[in-house]
Amino acid sequence: MRLETSVAIGKSGERRVRVKNATSLCREKRAEVCFLPVCLRPLYVLEAFLFAGLFFAGLLFAGPAAHAQSTKELPDKLPTLTTARQAHSLTSEQAARAYPVHLWGVVTYYDPSIGSHRASLFVHDATGTIYVEAVEGLIGDLSPGTLVDVHGVSGAGEFGPIIAHPQIKVVGHSVLPANPPRPSLTLMETGILDSQWIEAEGVIRSFVEYEHNVALQLAMDGGTVTVVMVKEAGANYSGLVDARVRVHANAGPMFNTRLQMIGVRLMCPNLSAITIVEIPPDDSFKLPAIPVDKLLRWDQVDASFHRVHLRGRVTLQWPGSLLCIRDETRGICAQTAQEDHVAVGDDVDVVGFVAAEDGAPVLSNAMYRSRASGSPVAAERVTAEQALLGNHNSELIQIDGQLIGKDIGDSETNLLFASEKNVFAVALPKDLEGEEADAWKIGSLLRVTGICSVQLDAQRSAIGEGMAVPKSFRILMRSPRDIVILRGPSWWTPAHALVILALVLAGTLLALAWVIVLRKRVVEQTVLLRKSEERFRHMALHDALTGLATRLLLDDRLTAAWKSAKRHQTGLALLMVDIDKFKEINDSFGHQAGDEVLRVTAGRLMQAVRISDTVARIGGDEFVVLLVDMHDPQMAERIAAKIVKSLAQPVPFAGREIPVSVSVGVDTSDAGGLDEEALLKSADDALYQAKAKGRNCFYVSRPA
Ligand code: GH3
Ligand code: MG
Repeated sequence: MRLETSVAIGKSGERRVRVKNATSLCREKRAEVCFLPVCLRPLYVLEAFLFAGLFFAGLLFAGPAAHAQSTKELPDKLPTLTTARQAHSLTSEQAARAYPVHLWGVVTYYDPSIGSHRASLFVHDATGTIYVEAVEGLIGDLSPGTLVDVHGVSGAGEFGPIIAHPQIKVVGHSVLPANPPRPSLTLMETGILDSQWIEAEGVIRSFVEYEHNVALQLAMDGGTVTVVMVKEAGANYSGLVDARVRVHANAGPMFNTRLQMIGVRLMCPNLSAITIVEIPPDDSFKLPAIPVDKLLRWDQVDASFHRVHLRGRVTLQWPGSLLCIRDETRGICAQTAQEDHVAVGDDVDVVGFVAAEDGAPVLSNAMYRSRASGSPVAAERVTAEQALLGNHNSELIQIDGQLIGKDIGDSETNLLFASEKNVFAVALPKDLEGEEADAWKIGSLLRVTGICSVQLDAQRSAIGEGMAVPKSFRILMRSPRDIVILRGPSWWTPAHALVILALVLAGTLLALAWVIVLRKRVVEQTVLLRKSEERFRHMALHDALTGLATRLLLDDRLTAAWKSAKRHQTGLALLMVDIDKFKEINDSFGHQAGDEVLRVTAGRLMQAVRISDTVARIGGDEFVVLLVDMHDPQMAERIAAKIVKSLAQPVPFAGREIPVSVSVGVDTSDAGGLDEEALLKSADDALYQAKAKGRNCFYVSRPA
């Protein structure tokens, strides 16, 4: 049921319903009661009077409501808003205060289910358009053009103000509002036209059908915008592609989770809101094929509005997303949703909308048809430097580089390559991947074949002569076989180097610890050696049995004493002491008793002399006493006498008294006299004399 009515507010403020061709429409719909100026179903006649009453009440509030918005109102006395503009021009804060809203308008868009249990509804009156929040399934059929009476409250909405908690009554049917304003895309994208009923003109580039929606891509002045529609049964949307159309729709905002606007889409009620201004050209595949290097040149600018036809051999296919071809002149890539398999090298026809992207023409919304199978295009060997010049954009190239990184994403694997000073990425869609990828080790030298895709430095390209300045490039692979391993990774990876460093460090630390331990041991051994050396030295210089000086020490002391005596002109004396009949003591009392006699003799000799004198044991029972600083030769004799006397005392041993005696040979010598050897000899001679005299006495040898 459709009546060509529209609701409008006159300049004087009264609400009018315009009816076009009402009589003829009423003739078609005989079940409805017709009276001028509107046709309404019998049930609504009564309601019409009710609405008229509400309408005039609304008018009464319309003025005060606008005034009330700029002043502070009490929450319980909020005025009723009666136009879409009043309700929509509130601030978010004001809208959230739930102003009562009651308006009358025509449905310009209705989608019974846009998301989770929600319906999307736009209602338009003569002042503007507003979104009406509705719950899926609760409001019945509200096809575009339905006249509705809406009771609700204002709400902040997700972007702009809306009518919340609506009670909607269908009051009639009308045509969709005609001649809406035609804003620029830039203005729409500001969000200022939120929900408004507008007109847009452009070329439809593609359509995608979803469950119950259709999305058309409309290329209009200023850019491309999506036109969303509710799918109509039996409609042929493909006939719209490449047509220039005029679309009437609501400007619907797109926003992020923080309710910030991120774009605009047009909510178009149905195909009746789309007028074809220029029919699409006949089958674009029948157009003459344009050489790729002629695209986007002056002579082809007319073609840029509609689809162009290209013909070439396939260099890459990413099914459902990208198809690259090369003709006799150059390569080009086309964005396409088509998934039909074509082999690399196949001869194909491609149609699509041409545009410039990153320094090269590309086709968007492309379609292709295979013509014949063919041989693959040969890839050109280039260096990274050459690829960066931009000449190979969209061409099949082959390049060597070292793999320095792998990024395995959900939809694409990206490999990072380094070649000399340059770094570039290599991309392969997930569904084209194979097991080969496992063999690509970081650090390997690889040869990769693929389509070169250059990225421009937009700012530098725009200045100067306007020539494209490439910034970087990446390579699009066709399959894992596009990579050939030239050389495995060097063993010297950072991880290995770290391991080695750690090992070296650990080794150094161990060596250091070992050195410390060794040093400690050396110090200990040195101390032991010193001690044993001292012990040996002591043993060499001291008699083990008596502790007296040995012959060695005596010689030392004698030499020193002799030199000192000579220097200071003092005298010294040497007493040779021998135990009398010692053999017999050993024999009679035992060897241990003999030892005791030797120890006692040593002690008595030590007591008989000064600390500066030396007592030595030079043989079994033979002792030498060296007396220094002897100024008086009589002194030696006195000491000899003292020794003879003290050593004649019996030695107690094991409860027995061992009778002992000694004989002493004395030699006194002053400085300049005899040398050491002669002194000893002389004392020995004197001892011999003492023994000869009968023992237990001393004998003094006098210098000749
Ligand atoms: P003389 O009066 O002529 O000296 O007679 P003698 O028996 O003492 O003769 P001599 O001096 O030649 O004897 C030394 C003896 O001392 C010989 C040896 O058995 C004994 N003898 C040597 N060394 C030791 C020792 O370390 N301990 C003991 N008990 N006896 C020793
Ligand atoms: Mg003796």
